[in-house]
Amino acid sequence: MQTNFSPEQLADPHVAESEKILRKCVHCGFCTATCPTYVLLGDELDSPRGRIYLIKDMLENGRAADTETVTHIDRCLSCLSCMTTCPSGVDYMHLVDHARVHIEKTYRRPLKDRFARSVIAATLPYPSRFRLALRTARLARPLAGLLKRVPWLRTFGIMLDLAPPAVPAASDGARAAVYAAKGTPRGRVALLTGCAQPVLRPEINEATIRLLTGQSVEVVVSAGEGCCGALVHHMGREEQALNAARRNVDVWLKAAEEDGLDAIVITASGCGTTIKDYGHMLRLDPAYAEKAAKVSALAKDITEYLAGLDLPEQGPRGMTVAYHSACSMQHGQKITLAPKQLLKRAGFAVREPAEGHLCCGSAGTYNILQPEISAKLKARKVRNIEATKPNVIATGNIGCITQIASGTNIPILHTVELLDWAYGGPKPTGL
Ligand code: SF4
Ligand code: SF4
Repeated sequence: MQTNFSPEQLADPHVAESEKILRKCVHCGFCTATCPTYVLLGDELDSPRGRIYLIKDMLENGRAADTETVTHIDRCLSCLSCMTTCPSGVDYMHLVDHARVHIEKTYRRPLKDRFARSVIAATLPYPSRFRLALRTARLARPLAGLLKRVPWLRTFGIMLDLAPPAVPAASDGARAAVYAAKGTPRGRVALLTGCAQPVLRPEINEATIRLLTGQSVEVVVSAGEGCCGALVHHMGREEQALNAARRNVDVWLKAAEEDGLDAIVITASGCGTTIKDYGHMLRLDPAYAEKAAKVSALAKDITEYLAGLDLPEQGPRGMTVAYHSACSMQHGQKITLAPKQLLKRAGFAVREPAEGHLCCGSAGTYNILQPEISAKLKARKVRNIEATKPNVIATGNIGCITQIASGTNIPILHTVELLDWAYGGPKPTGL
């Protein structure tokens, strides 16, 4: 694609990077066929190619974002399905990241949207605030219908609908500590405990620690680690995201310097995609560029790490698992085989639902901010999963777990919960 940026514009490293990305796009349109919003809405401006044109126009003219551009960029799930499909290697992820930051800086959203976004950004990334919000939501749930009818409060009504009916008690199972390996240690990893996940499903981190230590891997949960920054990063709140990244980089490099680390293990693929991108996110920060690149190089999804441990083959368990590959797992991190192979090796029969490349509609805060599109994607995903007639659904991202669980009665677990059970852990709650 031809571009017309001035030398002054290209002096901005963010613009220079976006220009390089834009020039790679050859307008072939292959990406449209696998873009969930184009598949649902059929509007070119809701396809990757259409969004690329909108971003090009906005950046090239150096203008503030307008309502049309914001509408179509907001509808993008950042699922990155387009990147898997694109034959030219267009780095849509970093282009849309830049567009979102530009929107955040130059576009004034209606006051009610600014208020809702600020509440989300000040709540979800902080476990104690998020837990309190979920407990309050349980009590306020009967008001959801009423709130949704008031334009100002609609987002909060949607959040009440999405809140789980029960909030697990705060768990001590993954507190900051060093968890000793059973037997002679064969590895040492840091674990990201995360923000929303330990509140919604503390069992996931507990199962991860049990499984890893049982396989002779020492697990470090460092004091001070926290939200990876992905939630606010996808809202264009770059400073908040970069500060979260810097905090985690400091904490994990300290752990690496003390006793070495083979990996930083992540159990939410949305977070994994972001942490693997820390090196890029902080590339212009002289104090952090090199350190962030080191952290990104150490980051591994739990299934990626487990695949290297050569876990023993287990006998059949007589249980069929529908494996839902989160977008951040398959498109963001390109991890497609490891989770299924681990499940099969652990004795589960694995089925893959149709349209596996399409997002379930969770996408961070998307199900709160774009509820109509999100609900359609959820219904389609659940239909495809239920068609495989599984006993249980497995996936590797808490957002997908919450989203899909709200649309089906089939139990849904994190892949690691099933693996932990197969290798001697307790039967997962919910089965
Ligand atoms: S990230 Fe997903 S929703 Fe956004 S343009 Fe690409 S395929 Fe479409
Ligand atoms: S598939 Fe790639 S090159 Fe083709 S239009 Fe989409 S982004 Fe551009």
